[in-house]
Amino acid sequence: MPTPVNVTVTGAAGQIGYALLFRIASGQLLGPDVPVRLRLLEITPALKAAEGTAMELEDCAFDLLSGIDITDDLKTAFDGTNVALLVGARPRSAGMERGDLLEANGGIFGPQGKAINDHAAGDVRVLVVGNPANTNALIAQQHAPDVPADRFTAMTRLDHNRALSQLSAKLGVPVGTIEKMTIWGNHSATQYPDLYTAQVNGRSAAEQVEESWLKDTFIPTVAKRGAAIIEARGASSAASAANAAVDHVHDWVNGTDWTSSSVVSDGSYGVPEGLICSFPCRSVDGAWQIIQGVEINEFSRGKIDASVQELTDERDAVRQLGLI
Ligand code: NDP
Repeated sequence: MPTPVNVTVTGAAGQIGYALLFRIASGQLLGPDVPVRLRLLEITPALKAAEGTAMELEDCAFDLLSGIDITDDLKTAFDGTNVALLVGARPRSAGMERGDLLEANGGIFGPQGKAINDHAAGDVRVLVVGNPANTNALIAQQHAPDVPADRFTAMTRLDHNRALSQLSAKLGVPVGTIEKMTIWGNHSATQYPDLYTAQVNGRSAAEQVEESWLKDTFIPTVAKRGAAIIEARGASSAASAANAAVDHVHDWVNGTDWTSSSVVSDGSYGVPEGLICSFPCRSVDGAWQIIQGVEINEFSRGKIDASVQELTDERDAVRQLGLI
């Protein structure tokens, strides 16, 4: 057996954690031949619930699961970690202002970034799922000056998968016939799912749907899908979010020609350097690359700029709060 890969999951006792851990332990995150050791980080009151999840993991008798550590200590959670999935976050409660939310999350993601900086393995890869994911990822990244910035990412893969599914249903084609789907910007209601980049059976997707559907149905349906699921299910999406996290890390490690990932901007497409923004990305040799040369029409430009402005505002707010 090769040496196990250390995978840390924060907020492990939560809904997404519950859907995620079994997929990781079964080999779907890193591959069917890669043993994993799980590190579950939780806040102290949730440790007992995490222990319950760990008992269930044991009861699955996964061949690839070489051990489980449960802790509320950051050093223990991130010591030697190769893959860190930062899921636990402070949800927005009634009456909470945006500044309060950013501050509460700064108190979580700043120390986690520092612990990753000080204790993680040299090849650590970080995916932030907990919202506001892009800005939480920025906070963590800014507290980890010794880790290459491109190891910090935020999840827009669920938005990407939702966009694939909506287009597939509209055109009555299998998801596998759709290529070059792209989510630009922030993982929020301002995100821009771009049908002008996407192709179906080698032809522009935008040309195969009505413009009114693209603008008035597709974009808002993808952007507001999370709220629609809460309305229908009475709870946030969890299994689909966990599935997207698995897709993101799997493709990062194993390679892909085209997907959407929130990565540190190098100034591509006019996105200010340093923001963690969703772009069309490929993964080569275990590293994300922003795909260059994508044509952006005037409509797309406006949508991308609006979402990037929101990211800039969030960055300025956390700067003002002294969180980065
Ligand atoms: P979930 O497991 O449902 O969600 C966790 C985070 O993922 C939330 O910030 C949520 O954002 C976010 N998220 C991102 N994308 C999605 C999506 N598409 N659908 C749903 N959620 C999404 O939350 P729970 O409350 O069930 O569990 C959170 C756990 O985290 C708790 O057990 C808590 O104790 C723990 N926690 C751990 C911390 C730590 O380890 N230091 C710190 C803080 C909390 P949104 O709220 O916007 O839906």
